[in-house]
Amino acid sequence: MVVLVVDALGWRLACETPGFAAMLPHRRKLETILGFSSGALPTLFTGQGPEAHGRWLMFRRAQGASPFAGFEWTRMLPRRARDSERMRRALTRVVERRGVRGYFHLYDVPRWLLPEFDLAERDDIFAPGGLPVDSLWDALERRGISWRRWNWRTPEAANLRELERCMEAEDLGVLVCYTAELDAALHHEGSGGPGVRERLARYHALLERLARPRAGGTPWIYLVSDHGMVDVRSCVDVMGRLARLPVQWPRDYLAFFDSTMARFWWRSPTARAAVTAALAAEPGGRWLADEELARLGARFAGREYGDSIFLLDPGVLMVPSFMGKRPLAAMHGYDPSHPDMAALLWSNRPVPEAVRGLKDVRGFLEAELDASAREAA
Ligand SMILES: [Zn+2]
Repeated sequence: MVVLVVDALGWRLACETPGFAAMLPHRRKLETILGFSSGALPTLFTGQGPEAHGRWLMFRRAQGASPFAGFEWTRMLPRRARDSERMRRALTRVVERRGVRGYFHLYDVPRWLLPEFDLAERDDIFAPGGLPVDSLWDALERRGISWRRWNWRTPEAANLRELERCMEAEDLGVLVCYTAELDAALHHEGSGGPGVRERLARYHALLERLARPRAGGTPWIYLVSDHGMVDVRSCVDVMGRLARLPVQWPRDYLAFFDSTMARFWWRSPTARAAVTAALAAEPGGRWLADEELARLGARFAGREYGDSIFLLDPGVLMVPSFMGKRPLAAMHGYDPSHPDMAALLWSNRPVPEAVRGLKDVRGFLEAELDASAREAA
C-alpha cells in the first residue's frame, strides 16, 4: 500500500488538470476542516476533529511553560536586529533545544510577544505516539506491519526517489509519503502557476510508475490531501484597523493574526466591545459564533486558540499579519464549505460512499489493511 499525502491538492485543481492521476479512477471529494494543516493532518491521521485531538492552528495561548519563555528581552533590540533572519534562526534553535520536534516557523510573530503563546505540535505527528489520541501510525505498530514514512524533515525529491526504491524492493507493507512543495508553489504562484503545473506533472508521473502491475500484483495506491487552496483576490489590513482604536494589544487584549483569522483573548469588556464593533465593520470577514465553531468541531473548552475568532472570506488575505508582511497569490484556512477548499482521496481501489471528509480517511485505510490481510491469507 502506498499513501501519498499531497498538502493543498484541492479536489477542484486535481479534477481540472487534464489526465491527472488517471490511473486512480475511484475518486472522493473530502470535506476539509476549518483551520490549517496543523489541524487537518492530525484529523487525517486520527479520524477525529480538532476539538477531540486538540490540534487546530500552529500557535495557541500558553497555558503552562511556553517554549518561547524569556523571549521578552528581544523587545530591547533595535528593530532591524529583532526582525533579522539571523535572529529568527537563533530563536528557532533555542525552541528546538527545548525539545519541540513538531513543525513550526516563527514567521513574523513579534519575538517579544512569543512567550504569550505555545506551539500545539511538540512531537512528530507522523510517528506512533506523536499525537494526543490514537492514530493510524499507532494502529500500524499494533498490527505489526512493516512500514516507512517520509515527510518535510527530509527533501521532497529524495523522499519520492526513496519511496520508489522501497516500492521496487517490495519488502515493506505500507509506504507513506507527505509532500509540501505543491502547497508552497500554490501560495507563491496561485493555481495557474508554472511551478504548480510542474509539481502536478511530477506527482502524476510518479503515480504512473508506482501503479504499474508487478510480480506481487498491482500496488494499492491512495492519493490524499488535507485541504485545497483559494486564489487571493484582495487583501485587508485588520491590524491597521485595530491600531486606530483607543484599546491596544497586548495591554487591553491579546491577539494573534493568522493569514485568514484574527484571534482574541480579552482582558476587559471594554476592549472586547471596541474590537468587536471595529471588525464587524470590516466587509472582508465575519465573527464566528460559538454555535458555528461547535458545528465545525473547533470550539475548545479551554479557549486556548482564542476567546473570539474573526474569519476572512475566501480569497481575502490579511496583510500584514503575524504570518507575513507581503501578499501571497493563494491561501487556505477559509470556510471549509468553499468549493476550492475541498480535499480529495483518489485510489485504484474502490472507496465507499461513506468516505466524505478528512475524518473518514483513517478508518477507511484501516479497513484496507484488513482487506489486504485477508487477501494475503
Ligand atoms: Zn499552506
